[in-house]
Amino acid sequence: MSQKSEPPSDSDIYKLLLEASKKKRKEKRAQLLRPIGIKEFFEEGSINIDKRTCEGAECKLCIDVCPTSALYWKSGEVGIVEELCVFCTACVSTCIVDNCIRVSRKRPNGETEKFGTPRDVLLLLGAIGSKRRISMIKTRFPMMETL
Ligand code: SF4
Ligand code: SF4
Repeated sequence: MSQKSEPPSDSDIYKLLLEASKKKRKEKRAQLLRPIGIKEFFEEGSINIDKRTCEGAECKLCIDVCPTSALYWKSGEVGIVEELCVFCTACVSTCIVDNCIRVSRKRPNGETEKFGTPRDVLLLLGAIGSKRRISMIKTRFPMMETL
């Protein structure tokens, strides 16, 4: 006797649609980023610019530093091509207004990082530098237990 399989639930269908759209977005990003030689480093991410606090026409610094041209000037404000943003935070470190640009990104290990000010970016770089330093010292001087 053949066994009847259960029809998929709404949540199963939603999950499938979400996965399909994530896959499509990833493919589109790869297509756009490959020709400019930029690799994806983060699983997911988002970028937002607060139009109310942005200095816009007077500034445009973020547009100048973006390595992928994800930012551009359109009808009096900074526009974003989200598919081109690799969440590098260069724009956050350059922006003259705190929390005007907000970038959040997820590392492959599941860690989420959020940036709104140049200080946030510097703190992370400092933390990464310290971790590397400690790991190098441990490799070179394995007897040092205090680190
Ligand atoms: S996070 Fe990096 S890639 Fe994304 S808009 Fe800012 S500078 Fe460009
Ligand atoms: S750097 Fe900041 S303030 Fe300047 S244009 Fe970009 S978002 Fe606006």
